Amino acid sequence: DAALYRAKEQGQNKYNVYHSGMNIHSYRSFLIQNDLRKAIERDEFYLVYQPRVNLLTGDVTSAEALIRWNHPVWGAIKPEEFIPIAEETGLIIDIDQWVFENVCKQINQWKENELSLQNIRIAINLSAQHFIEKDFLANFINIFNKYKIDSNNIEFEITELVILRNEEAVQQTLQSIKELGIKLSLDDFGTGYSSLTYLRNFPFDSIKIDKSFIDDLPINLNNSKEIIESVIFLANKINMSVIAEGVETIQQLDHLKTIGCEEVQGYIFSPPVQSDQFIQYVKSNERQVITNRLNESSVI
Ligand code: C2E
Ligand code: MG
Ligand code: MG
Ligand code: MG
Repeated sequence: DAALYRAKEQGQNKYNVYHSGMNIHSYRSFLIQNDLRKAIERDEFYLVYQPRVNLLTGDVTSAEALIRWNHPVWGAIKPEEFIPIAEETGLIIDIDQWVFENVCKQINQWKENELSLQNIRIAINLSAQHFIEKDFLANFINIFNKYKIDSNNIEFEITELVILRNEEAVQQTLQSIKELGIKLSLDDFGTGYSSLTYLRNFPFDSIKIDKSFIDDLPINLNNSKEIIESVIFLANKINMSVIAEGVETIQQLDHLKTIGCEEVQGYIFSPPVQSDQFIQYVKSNERQVITNRLNESSVI
């Protein structure tokens, strides 16, 4: 990973140049890279929100903001395709900042229109690239103040790639985030190398268990059930909560409830949706949908 990181750092300001030996795949990346540079000013990005459901109460009080790109010629391009390209080229810095600003704008609007939304929390994915930039947090704080956002309205999701650097500067940035009162969660947990004992040294509020573990649940492949159970147990011991990602079936939901998982995000409740629809989930009239789903599940 250190090597991968260095490669990424070096790649930051590299411009991709088209040459005749390119295959279809790299030609497409080349086109995407060029169009990504213009996507912000052409207003081609938008945000969707995926609700997180508290399994004890059935409440939706938070969501993950996810970026979408509507390309004028190719239509929707998946984040899985363009985010890695944005990371290689350093464009991710501007993209995540666009996401952050637009989430803040949105929260500000929600709070003005709906008094009940004062405590809403939106999680934003922050690329590991930000932690290379010295003053990224100062930028974010300016945006924060501009939209009068309360720190408990925001959460940052970062991946193990950030903490594996284990550098003083990274530790300090994470600590500053914490001191600002912004919640921090560790995304895609289980796909990298960090262990829970290692995490003890970092100020995370929650851990998001990667979908690949959830996928194994119905037939308990690779002892995933026991692994998730111990992650929940240990996480709670060090005061971190657990969110299960990518929950799609009632069987998975049942398993997760039996082993004491507190929060769930997945198609079983809702895919990422546009802001109006998300707000419907938060307001009580749509809560029934979620309660019904929890009741369908056999374990209480
Ligand atoms: P992630 O942060 O782990 O986000 C979760 C992904 O799982 C999202 O994919 C979400 O739509 C998908 N998902 C949620 N529930 C289910 C389910 O039940 N079944 C299935 N099959 N999928 C589910 P998405 O939106 O395509 O994003 C993919 C990845 O792209 C994200 O993974 C994140 O790493 C990155 N990404 C997305 N938006 C941003 C952004 O604004 N900034 C950065 N830096 N990365 C982003
Ligand atoms: Mg995420
Ligand atoms: Mg994830
Ligand atoms: Mg991911």
